[in-house]
Amino acid sequence: MVVDTRNVVFFTVFFFVVHYLLIRWREKIRNSTPIHVVTVSEMAAIITFVGSCIYLLLYFGTTLVHHTHFSDDEEAEETKNHSAIGCKFDVLLTHAEKKETTTGEDEEVIQAVVSGKTPSYLLESKLGDCKRAVFIRRVALERITGKSLEGLPVDGFDYESILGQCCEMPVGYVQIPVGIAGPLLLDGMEFSVPMATTEGCLVASTNRGCKAIYVSGGATSVLLKDGMTRAPIVRFATAKRAADLKFFLEEPLNFQNLASVFDRSSRFAKLRKIQCAIAGRNLYIRFTCSTGDAMGMNMVSKGVQNVLEYLQANFPDMDVIGISGNYCSDKKPAAVNWIEGRGKSVVCEAIITEDVVKKVLKTTVASLVELNMLKNLTGSAMAGALGGFNAHASNIVSAVFLATGQDPAQNIESSHCITMMEAVNGGRDLHVSVTMPSIEVGTVGGGTQLASQSACLNLLGVKGANKEWAGSNARQLAKVVAAAVLAGELSLMSAIAAGQLVKSHMKYNRSNKDISAKF
Ligand code: ADP
Repeated sequence: MVVDTRNVVFFTVFFFVVHYLLIRWREKIRNSTPIHVVTVSEMAAIITFVGSCIYLLLYFGTTLVHHTHFSDDEEAEETKNHSAIGCKFDVLLTHAEKKETTTGEDEEVIQAVVSGKTPSYLLESKLGDCKRAVFIRRVALERITGKSLEGLPVDGFDYESILGQCCEMPVGYVQIPVGIAGPLLLDGMEFSVPMATTEGCLVASTNRGCKAIYVSGGATSVLLKDGMTRAPIVRFATAKRAADLKFFLEEPLNFQNLASVFDRSSRFAKLRKIQCAIAGRNLYIRFTCSTGDAMGMNMVSKGVQNVLEYLQANFPDMDVIGISGNYCSDKKPAAVNWIEGRGKSVVCEAIITEDVVKKVLKTTVASLVELNMLKNLTGSAMAGALGGFNAHASNIVSAVFLATGQDPAQNIESSHCITMMEAVNGGRDLHVSVTMPSIEVGTVGGGTQLASQSACLNLLGVKGANKEWAGSNARQLAKVVAAAVLAGELSLMSAIAAGQLVKSHMKYNRSNKDISAKF
């Protein structure tokens, strides 16, 4: 009930006149004055009494009717929702209803989602309007959870572009700032490297590494291998039968046949290698194929499916347990990727002159060589590292992956890296290199086609498919990733050698704002 000033006035007047009339009535009884003989002031009090009664009856009557009307339909629905969502509705209304203005039509759909009548995942196909689906899902979610999504932006994003490809059941998008490190001089070309990160210091540090590389004449890279992998697991009744298939698959005379079956998956798929591992009667078959400018997981999986169907004719007793048997190995730390490679294998090197080490990196060649030996090699060996013989390759890999629409989960194997630092030219200059066997990147497919990620790929000159030489955009991107890692390694290692790490992180990475809970 809303208590406004008018109601207060009428209530006050009502009680005042009732009080006055009661006093007058008592006096009339005491003085034996007939009750129907009234003075002017009594008459005025009676009129005021009747007036205020009419007003109050009308006001409360209307509210009651309105209330009853809602009880019949919406409130019945609300009551139902109450039980369905654990009686959070009252709290929810304070959050969601106040902040989002919904039309009657939207309101109906929101109610249906909240009550569970309409599954949230069907909104896009039911409404045929991605943006509206996001809005409705978001309001429904706020009501169901009782939590506000204020701060998570919803406008300014093309939700059609992610439909059926990048993200299901969207309610908004997360913003990550993009910084630029560079120019990065690599193989005679200059690159401005986009890095999406919230870690202070990271872009600044990589930028310093880029400068050291630039003034030393640039970095050089070589692509050693290019092949995405997928390894299904198949089982036989005996280990002997599993071995029969292993020998069949590894027989060079059979390769061409198998490749022609595999390559039907895409005009860009080219089977390069088949490698088998046996565990008892189970066989793991690691297929490696080049995938053009795509990172290639879909392509390789489709090719594997083709081959398994083909093999079933010759090995009818083969039981396909799963299209992926983890010998691939995707998104998990595994020695097979570190040793055999996955995606693009790249080595990148630079010679940093003594002068630059002193002036730009503020340290010495001897300190860097010693630190690298004791930290990246010995320290990582002591820790039992798997592909982690570096200072912070994954920092740079993740930031470039996020900016360019790569699969961030593949940061795991893509960050495998051994950083080497050796004194050359009579001990004066520094030879620095990073060897990265599993950089998994693409410039078509997945998140690469989204507007912001696409803009970052464009900045690097590797947007989309390379029309002249399929795959060269993705390969170039892998080389840029490795070179950016080289810059990052140089700079961080120098900061540690010079004892600056904690100081610079305190300055750029630690907020001195009051971050005590605002909500
Ligand atoms: P992924 O295999 O990395 O998951 P997708 O299958 O989503 O990638 O994307 C690859 C798609 O892009 C395929 O349909 C392929 O035919 C198409 N495509 C167009 N040009 C190229 C190219 N240059 N290299 C690889 N794929 C390309």
